[in-house]
Amino acid sequence: MTTVDTSQTQESKPTNCISCNKPLKKLKRYYRDGKYYCTKKCWLKMKKGQQTKEA
Ligand SMILES: [Zn+2]
Repeated sequence: MTTVDTSQTQESKPTNCISCNKPLKKLKRYYRDGKYYCTKKCWLKMKKGQQTKEA
C-alpha cells in the first residue's frame, strides 16, 4: 500500500491522466471525450480497456 498525497482537489480539475494516473503536463495533455490524458496512447489504452471485455 502506498499513501498518496491527495491534500485536496478531488473533483476539480483533473490533473492526472486517468489512464496511467501520471501528472499531466500543461502542454502535453491530451483532451478527449471530456477527460484528460497525458498522451493519445493513454486515451487509446483507456478506450480499449473500457470496451472489449468479453471473454
Ligand atoms: Zn497517461
